[in-house]
Amino acid sequence: MNFINIIGNDKVKELLTNSINSNNLVHSYMFVGPDGIGKKLFATELSKIVLCTSTEKACNSCSSCIKFNSNNHPDFTIIDSEDGKNIKIGQIRLLQEQISEKPIVSDKKVYIINNSDLMTVEAQNCLLKTLEEPPEYALIILILSNENKLLNTIKSRCTKISFNKLTSEDLQTYSRTNNLEINDTLLNICDR
Ligand SMILES: [Zn+2]
Repeated sequence: MNFINIIGNDKVKELLTNSINSNNLVHSYMFVGPDGIGKKLFATELSKIVLCTSTEKACNSCSSCIKFNSNNHPDFTIIDSEDGKNIKIGQIRLLQEQISEKPIVSDKKVYIINNSDLMTVEAQNCLLKTLEEPPEYALIILILSNENKLLNTIKSRCTKISFNKLTSEDLQTYSRTNNLEINDTLLNICDR
């Protein structure tokens, strides 16, 4: 089963698992939701599954998974703000250059743009060209909390997936299965 180590957001798990199993993943996704609820973890797990070269996905033993686990996968890139303020056009130009080179280890090539609501307008316009005509092996995942910061032209090219805070049921189920005690600190990260 996919996404087994991730708590909550079961609908997202189901949706992505179905898309993977039926080979229906699109080229670009927007993972939208509050900060700190596991969007990046989800995107990373999805990348590992997509890049895995074995039939049992995210097998942890093929050359792709081994490289992925050691943060050394040539077909996987995470882009983020370098100064905590914005993601600049130069970073997206680099993506554009690299994405046109075919994957080396896997059949796919994955780019995660974390905090993509920090992209400048110039960076977004630059990215738009890639989103309009992505190479067939490309998967681009934009992670963000504030959709209003993205141009409509970008949004219209991406399939949106909404993430929610964990529910207290999610946490209770998880705690029960793992013999953990729930305390108020844990419950505070949930929607109650
Ligand atoms: Zn693998």
